[in-house]
Amino acid sequence: MANNSVDDIKPCFPLFGEPEYRENMKNKQDKYEERESMEKLEETFQWTTSAEYKELNFQREAVTINPAKACQPLGAVLCSLGFKGTLPYVHGSQGCVAYFRTYFNRHFKEPVACVSDSMTEDAAVFGGHKNMDAGLKNALALYKPEMIAVSTTCMAEVIGDDLHSFITNAKVKGHVPQDLPVPSAHTPSFVGSHTTGWDGMLEGIIRYFTLDKHESAVVGSNGKINLVPGFETYLGNYRILKRYMEEMDVPYTLLSDPSEVLDTPADGEYRMYVGGTELEDVKDTPNAIDTLLLQPWSLTKTKKYLKDTWQQPISEINPPMGLKWTDEYLMKVSQLSGKPIPASIELERGRLVDMMTDSHSWLHGKRFSLYGDPDFVMGLTNFLLELGAEPVHVMSNNANKRWGKAMSKILKSSPYGQETEVHVGTDLWHFRSLVFDRKPDFMIGNSYGKFIQRDTKHKGLEHEVKLIRLGFPIFDRHHLHRMTTLGYEGAMYILTTLVNAVLEDLDSKTTGYGETDYNYDLVR
Ligand code: SF4
Repeated sequence: MANNSVDDIKPCFPLFGEPEYRENMKNKQDKYEERESMEKLEETFQWTTSAEYKELNFQREAVTINPAKACQPLGAVLCSLGFKGTLPYVHGSQGCVAYFRTYFNRHFKEPVACVSDSMTEDAAVFGGHKNMDAGLKNALALYKPEMIAVSTTCMAEVIGDDLHSFITNAKVKGHVPQDLPVPSAHTPSFVGSHTTGWDGMLEGIIRYFTLDKHESAVVGSNGKINLVPGFETYLGNYRILKRYMEEMDVPYTLLSDPSEVLDTPADGEYRMYVGGTELEDVKDTPNAIDTLLLQPWSLTKTKKYLKDTWQQPISEINPPMGLKWTDEYLMKVSQLSGKPIPASIELERGRLVDMMTDSHSWLHGKRFSLYGDPDFVMGLTNFLLELGAEPVHVMSNNANKRWGKAMSKILKSSPYGQETEVHVGTDLWHFRSLVFDRKPDFMIGNSYGKFIQRDTKHKGLEHEVKLIRLGFPIFDRHHLHRMTTLGYEGAMYILTTLVNAVLEDLDSKTTGYGETDYNYDLVR
């Protein structure tokens, strides 16, 4: 290429903006694309930003556009990665597994071990029994896992493959040893989402290890508290849950902990398995004092199994996000364990309160629209209200109506939530209409929101809604997955992110030389 040479390598931007490439692109469009004129595209763009279009958009029934959720087996894979020596195994199409792996690669910037038994057309007709036999045998021979955790793609679900009988038969036929743990979960992606899949896989693992043990369990006999994080992609959250328990001197079992395998060092050694919840600890979980479900809106299957079969209270708890809900969480742990909350955690709380006071004048009354998973969005909304910020739109595609009602109740209890709209089951194309219709100061969500920012900016600078990246997936910024959003430490990170976005935005609007720079202040 004429404009790129080994001595002066230019990346895609600005290289493709140069005349040679612009001409190439134009030729391609003119010759091979049935492209509308720019005038027509602009006219359609403007129409899609109107109130009239919003009405039509919300009548949409037959199609979902950019759904703000991923599919069930992706969640099952994340759950499986959090157990020691465990190989996630997906019964179904290879392409689906390639998608899960690349999705996690892009978010965590890490290799992700996961196998598929690669069902193709013949398996779709005759069933995937043979694939499972060969797949389990090969997976064990090649990767030598301590446990193989099996979930399914849509294809296996559509034809109705029965995981339990397939795995039992594979063991009877000697493809894998009888005593190799092979828990499973049916994870049909035409219902639910990645959070449902995580929940189903955990229930499958707990069921596998404890079904014949819960009746002889003595609640509280091991002195532990079980913590269930749910579909959690902030690695700092696993670490803070462990740190709090250790500082409180409370024994615990964290049910799924992929914080090591998704954060391995570059020291020349590839670690396929590292860290994770010990399988012996999983067997012991019915003997704990209690099990706390930290994403209560997403862990319904696990909750049902525990409530129906275990003797523990399964205490209700809100996600430990923000000030009050972290207070409640720590007090619950203290009450259950009989251990006091130590001075070190009190000090951390005090620091958070100090930070909230310091930043209050910048966040008070700032208007945010947010989207994401049900528990994350609820916890974040609750914290926004604690900061005196005003949620404008609160959206979760994979929540249910009961969540919507609970969310509205929380909002109505605060002076800052009186005007908030709650949307359940809607997608990011709906969200785009929402922020054009009632402009917030910022939107909060995963990387996909950047296209909404681009569109709002295209309508005019006064319409631009900047994206603050919190949630999953975050593909276009580095290392944010290592941060913490739970506990006081997590609230500090969220607060720092929000207030600095507000200040960056103010700086960007006050650089007008001799015009707006009267407010381009050194000290904010
Ligand atoms: S939705 Fe179904 S077909 Fe698509 S990636 Fe997920 S499991 Fe595969």
